[in-house]
Amino acid sequence: MSKALIMEELTWVELEDKKENIELVIVPLGSTEQHGPNTTLATDTVRAREMARMIGEIYGDRVLIAPTLPIGLSYHHMKFPGTITFTLDTYLKIARDICWSFKQHGMNKILFITGHGGNKRPIHEFATEAKRDFDMDIYISSMGGSLVRELSEAHGFGEFKGHACEVETSQMMVLAPDHVRYESLEAAKFREDTKYFDKAFAYDGGVFWDYHEVSENGALGDATKASVEFGKEMNDLVITKITNFIDKIIF
Ligand SMILES: [Zn+2]
Repeated sequence: MSKALIMEELTWVELEDKKENIELVIVPLGSTEQHGPNTTLATDTVRAREMARMIGEIYGDRVLIAPTLPIGLSYHHMKFPGTITFTLDTYLKIARDICWSFKQHGMNKILFITGHGGNKRPIHEFATEAKRDFDMDIYISSMGGSLVRELSEAHGFGEFKGHACEVETSQMMVLAPDHVRYESLEAAKFREDTKYFDKAFAYDGGVFWDYHEVSENGALGDATKASVEFGKEMNDLVITKITNFIDKIIF
């Protein structure tokens, strides 16, 4: 385990010294959005930042950890107080500006690690453009439920989770316990009239749910089942999957 190369903790002189060894830049992507009564509005930002730091400790000076973007694409949470969203247009411009800036410093490979599913769309959209316009390679990884589906099933967790649920809350219990409201943890309060469970609308149907149409408290799954043990197991698995990916990007 080495020391992570955290950009915000360096002077430009120190960065200049280390530049030669840097093979990849990780840009963690967060959000400021509701996570039910279970965890704070910073949940995705904290998860992205902390996981990036842990991954940075594995690679030392070979991987530079950029500052975490604390706002994402979160229209679907806007009915809950405290959520802030960029428009798709803004987000694309921000991704472009970040990549352009690193390009000026001679860094051509960027891995966006997103703590929030809604951020995947703008980055995917930008990735092909980056290749054409900047001759850069853009990679993206999530760090949540989709990576640990089998693990969740093995723990008997239900199908309808993925936000402010047992998975995310467990992760936060390990990464940032101060952001977890242990005394207020709640399962999803699914709305009686929601069509969310209707298979006809599921996944490939192209329906973009607003969270308030699905869940009264903004949560999915059941955060009361969250545990430190599951959080650790999950974080380890996510780190293994992301580092396997990184090992293919830089070898
Ligand atoms: Zn989240």
